[in-house]
Amino acid sequence: MTSKLIENTIRPDVRALASYHVPDASGYIKLDAMENPYPLPDRLRTELAMRLADAVLNRYPIPTYGTLKQKIRANLGVPEGFDVILGNGSDEIISIVATAVARSDRRAVIMAPVPAFVMFARSAQMAGCDFVGVPLGADFSLDREAMLAAIAQHKPAALFLAYPNNPTGNLFDEADMEAIIEALGDTGIAVVDEAYGPFAQASFMDRLPRYPNLVVMRTLSKLGLAGIRLGYLAASPALLEQLDKVRPPYNVNVLTQVAAEFALDHIAVLNAQADALNAARGELAASLATLPGVTVFPSRANFLLVRVPDADHACAQLLADKIMIKNMSKMHGLLANCIRVTVSTPEENSAFVEALRGALETR
Ligand SMILES: *Cc1c(COP(=O)(O)O)cnc(C)c1O
Repeated sequence: MTSKLIENTIRPDVRALASYHVPDASGYIKLDAMENPYPLPDRLRTELAMRLADAVLNRYPIPTYGTLKQKIRANLGVPEGFDVILGNGSDEIISIVATAVARSDRRAVIMAPVPAFVMFARSAQMAGCDFVGVPLGADFSLDREAMLAAIAQHKPAALFLAYPNNPTGNLFDEADMEAIIEALGDTGIAVVDEAYGPFAQASFMDRLPRYPNLVVMRTLSKLGLAGIRLGYLAASPALLEQLDKVRPPYNVNVLTQVAAEFALDHIAVLNAQADALNAARGELAASLATLPGVTVFPSRANFLLVRVPDADHACAQLLADKIMIKNMSKMHGLLANCIRVTVSTPEENSAFVEALRGALETR
């Protein structure tokens, strides 16, 4: 009965999918998800608790979120005349964009250079769009000619560029990105995903006035608030008006709103943590580079992509040592034997380096 029901109701491409597997990390050093290892200082946590106690839980959220949006615009450099839409994480915003461009008269195309953040392709599929991935060059730079040719051929309605890119960690060349944004013109929305902006200290935000088809997406997740789920997208009012029709009403809850406003009032604390992680990234990269057979790729994010002699063996050994990282080696040909590790505290980074050293020796 159940299998017939599933077969008769759930679409075939969903039935064929594997679930997005999130492993249970209790008891592990968790270096797989680009989380900030540092909690808010005690003083701020106590103050936040009081603010949360005052949150109005019996009412629906105020749908405009004027105060929160104003703080985002002010703190994060959204240009005059532009506004933001909020999402339950930027994952939801990716899905809102995909849903907004999906159409019933023909299949819309969503494009990204690959390897890319998995949710670009996943959201495209769920919305009923075709996803076209254009391979990066061997050094993970944009293949400008291939991208421009793919844009001319497929006319994508939306194109995602993560800046810095996940899982490769690099910033794409600005001129390449501008050529792509210009080539899309008025046939495609260019989404620059700056999830790692706090670490890269580079942004396309100030280019919003120059390109009417450009939108810039950010999130509080990698900065230290992955648990509250808040992402936002800055764009022209005309585009936001359309995207807002697709956004589920009340998609950002009041506890998130209160916590986010509080965090933005104390953004200097989070930025200082990001600076510390940036410094730690340099030290971690230098330590890893001394290990035999290990290649560390340049990163402007809070993670490192690392090529090892045998990624499966390394991940198995690290897991046995209670360290969780991400094995990227099956994701794309360019990522053969690559692992991705989040930059964490000096102690956790050292534990990782020592465990990886051990894994390399037992091979
Ligand atoms: C982590 C990540 C996101 C997801 O952010 P959330 O706001 O936590 O949903 C989006 N884009 C990229 C490139 C990421 O790596």
